[in-house]
Amino acid sequence: MVVGSELGTFMLVTGTVPSVMVDFDKISDPNAEYTMRDLSAETMGIEKTRGGTRDAEITDVQTTMVDGNYPWILVRVYTDAGVVGNGECYWGGGDTAIIERMKPFLVGENPLDIDRLYEHMIQKMSGEGSISGKVISAISGVEIALHDVAGKLVDLPAYQLLGGKYRDSARVYCDLHTEDEANPQACAEEADRVVSDLGYDAIKFDLDVPSGHEKDRANRHLRPGEIEHKAEIVEATTEAVGDRADVAFDCHWSYATGSAKRLAKRLEEYDVWWLEDVVPPENHDAQREVTRSTATPVATGENVYRTHGNRDLIENEAIDIIAPDIPRVGGMREGQKIANMADMYYIPVAMHNVSSPIGTMASAQLAVAIPNSLAVEYHSYELGWWEDLVEEDGLIEDGRMDIPEEPGLGLELDLDVVEENMVEGETLFDPAP
Ligand code: MG
Repeated sequence: MVVGSELGTFMLVTGTVPSVMVDFDKISDPNAEYTMRDLSAETMGIEKTRGGTRDAEITDVQTTMVDGNYPWILVRVYTDAGVVGNGECYWGGGDTAIIERMKPFLVGENPLDIDRLYEHMIQKMSGEGSISGKVISAISGVEIALHDVAGKLVDLPAYQLLGGKYRDSARVYCDLHTEDEANPQACAEEADRVVSDLGYDAIKFDLDVPSGHEKDRANRHLRPGEIEHKAEIVEATTEAVGDRADVAFDCHWSYATGSAKRLAKRLEEYDVWWLEDVVPPENHDAQREVTRSTATPVATGENVYRTHGNRDLIENEAIDIIAPDIPRVGGMREGQKIANMADMYYIPVAMHNVSSPIGTMASAQLAVAIPNSLAVEYHSYELGWWEDLVEEDGLIEDGRMDIPEEPGLGLELDLDVVEENMVEGETLFDPAP
């Protein structure tokens, strides 16, 4: 049922919680007078014509949410040049409403001005909190779609827009899970299977798994038995793959600074690829303390936003490896700026990623365009239909993602598969004009 009103169109979906779509074009813009800088001005006075397809305008921005192994939020930017671009936001609720809110100040803009439009969105959304969080993941999805549009308008792959190649394909590491995640032998068998049968030379396991030695997980302290159990998982998995694969381990922000230091020191003899998110994400001084205490490489980054959020981690050398999530951190250009800043401190980049093929390809396009890319994460090896979401096949072969020579991201959504797997209550994108 669709009901019109003065505030726009309310879509009531029978049998589910009603979702309200407000038409922000029709209400007053509280940000118009209170934006932080002139970057928020529409077009910023740019009027000169560019010629050919480069005079395109954005005509619409749409989203839909797909129920993958995470709720993938797909974004589509439409233009008057007959070109649409696809992007993706880091998962979950909120981004659709934020993108709907931003639409009035994207429509009519030239999609080729990716940097300016990024700043335009940041500044226009300053009152809504464009320093971090869901506003930035929503902006990231639009930014990625703009790269797809821009590439199609100038007939170049996205990596070419980012300055060109350092390599032909992106190394992909596979995030592994077993039903018996706390059993070192089960982990070792899965590591061997994925390396032998699926061809990956880089994998990651969760290390914040129950050991049976816990007394109180809320205080973040690791007891000796817990550290020994983790060492057993690390020993079993690294021995199972030997020199055939690099193995990283993720702790999901679980431990106290002192416990994190003891764990990292205990694991030094196994020479792991990296130990990820050992301490909670907010206190970068504690992060630095852990990193500086050990020869075990320490990584973090998926929970910080924009260049500004990453700056002190990098400048204070609080990490050995930085792990931004491109559909969350601000998008491809913002990811490149973070990578460039990290490279000044000789810090490699391992991109966190739980996205559909769209967000994953955005990360892979960036990975070939920066010198310090270590790998891009792949988190859907158990899903079965991950790559069916796009028309292209064989996206990841032997642990690498080839970068297409087609313009933009080089992928097209299979709208039938999008529709089959949409979250209930979502609507499918309009077809390309
Ligand atoms: Mg992680």
